[in-house]
Amino acid sequence: MRTSQYLLSTQKETPAEAEVISHQLMIRAGMIRKLASGLYTWLPSGLKVLNKVAAIVREEMDKAGAVEVLMPVVQPADLWEESGRWEEYGPELLRVKDRHSRDFVLGPTHEEVITALVRNEISSYKQLPINLYQIQTKFRDEVRPRFGIMRGREFTMKDAYSFHLDEESLAATYEKMYTAYSAIFTRLGLDFRAVIADSGAIGGSVSHEFHVLAASGEDDIAFSTESDYAANVEMAPAAKPETAASPSGETGETLAVKGETVSELAASAALSEAQMLRVTLVQGHQEEESSAESWVALVLRADHALNDVKAEKLPGVAVPLVKASDEKAKAILGCAAQFADATNLPVTTFVDYSAAAMADFVTGAGESGKLKTFANWSRVPEQADIRNVVAGDPSPDGQGVLEIKRGIEVGHIFQLGDKYSKAMNCGVLSESGKHQLLTMGCYGIGVSRIVAAAIEQNHDKFGVIWPDPIAPFKVALIPMNMHKSQRIKETAEALYDKLTGMGIDVLFDDRKERPGVMFNDMELIGIPHSIVIGERNLDNQQIEYKHRRTGEKQLLDIDAAADFIAAL
Ligand code: ATP
Ligand code: MG
Ligand code: MG
Ligand code: MG
Repeated sequence: MRTSQYLLSTQKETPAEAEVISHQLMIRAGMIRKLASGLYTWLPSGLKVLNKVAAIVREEMDKAGAVEVLMPVVQPADLWEESGRWEEYGPELLRVKDRHSRDFVLGPTHEEVITALVRNEISSYKQLPINLYQIQTKFRDEVRPRFGIMRGREFTMKDAYSFHLDEESLAATYEKMYTAYSAIFTRLGLDFRAVIADSGAIGGSVSHEFHVLAASGEDDIAFSTESDYAANVEMAPAAKPETAASPSGETGETLAVKGETVSELAASAALSEAQMLRVTLVQGHQEEESSAESWVALVLRADHALNDVKAEKLPGVAVPLVKASDEKAKAILGCAAQFADATNLPVTTFVDYSAAAMADFVTGAGESGKLKTFANWSRVPEQADIRNVVAGDPSPDGQGVLEIKRGIEVGHIFQLGDKYSKAMNCGVLSESGKHQLLTMGCYGIGVSRIVAAAIEQNHDKFGVIWPDPIAPFKVALIPMNMHKSQRIKETAEALYDKLTGMGIDVLFDDRKERPGVMFNDMELIGIPHSIVIGERNLDNQQIEYKHRRTGEKQLLDIDAAADFIAAL
């Protein structure tokens, strides 16, 4: 690209309304222009960076097995009524009417649209799991749009949504996304941390945010000085069920236990030895039966210990449901509750916490009050309430003390569970031929926010210093007084042709400007490498290379210059 044909739009003055350095530099370097509050036009240099960020995100998502789609920005209100968010969402949701007075929203996120899509397109368990993503404009009517595109009202997000038959499959994709996000932010050249995030109202689900560390960040992140612990300070603990003192006593409630195996769970629930034996007996049958009802029936019918229970030698029947899907857990608990009601015997059950937390059936089950449910808390990260911590407080994980740093949230991954699939009835035919609701994950990246976050971490008093992978141009070609020297012009044109021919992104400053003006502009824009062509060095068939970040200069033979740049 030649500056003479480009829209450079650099400016010297720091705009008065820009509070943070990235906002100031994006305006001064000619990357964005404000249209209205929270609405920005991307100028060529800004757009080039935005597209490079998007390309890296796209590559890593594809690599992680996600499939790209593109959904509309405008969404019918009906879908939002179905999910319940038409009422819940609040004033960040921009609502509009069409000419027929039908209600629509400008999508702040796309759970409703994707769930409706999957409900229609996917009918069999054989098509799962699937992870669909898009890179699309979002609109949120932010109460306080600020810091330029860092908190815009219209912004670009990569949002992905995965659909699964069970929690294990969801956990596996979540893990893949966690890894893909780490790869993305590493490739972008950013100093980032994955932190534990507030899992919101749905206890038991798992959530992480990815933060770029910067003083201008809006979030406080608490780090342990001794361990890997890092969490967003806005995080509240998930609602943990009360811990049981003993499995006997009050019934009809859900209590927290921990364990990977059934015996660990039984131990954590302080079951008696006799009950432990019972648990082990039942466990033996768990894998053999696919249908929940038949499985419970089998367990209970084949229960030669049942007579002992009746003779009150054992305090009840234990039914372990470790790693059961919500659907299966629900069916088994239903059977167990029926059994408890019919026999008037106490029944102890174990469910995975995610199933327990999301299914209101758990606490209500067992009308007779004979069903006792233990929720497996193992997969739920311990989330201490750290909303009011200050630096120097002990860490929640028992190691070191807390350090507080500012972070910019650039990514957020979340195990959603069945919130949307339940409300919108999104399911498939399972292997046993039954309708089964799906469990979901969602994964967002603030593609446009990353551009600002990268500048917060990469700048000096002269301007932006782009990490190479997202620089608008790799190299600035700066001929001094080209319009007075044929020799300089020829050298510059030849090098420009050679570099562009090699597929290198070059900004050729062919303006009739003083060298100082050119140097300042190229530094302000933040191009990582530059080549200066001047009379004195040309006498020795040389040009000057300068590294933007370190300021190091080096003379290169003209013939070797292109290969040198290509190898950087
Ligand atoms: P924040 O806490 O900053 O308001 P959020 O938690 O509301 O963000 P998510 O719903 O998690 O945002 O959306 C996914 C990603 O989209 C965020 O991690 C962030 O990088 C980006 N994002 C959210 N809101 C904005 C915005 N107003 N402008 C630019 N990017 C945004
Ligand atoms: Mg927000
Ligand atoms: Mg947030
Ligand atoms: Mg978030």
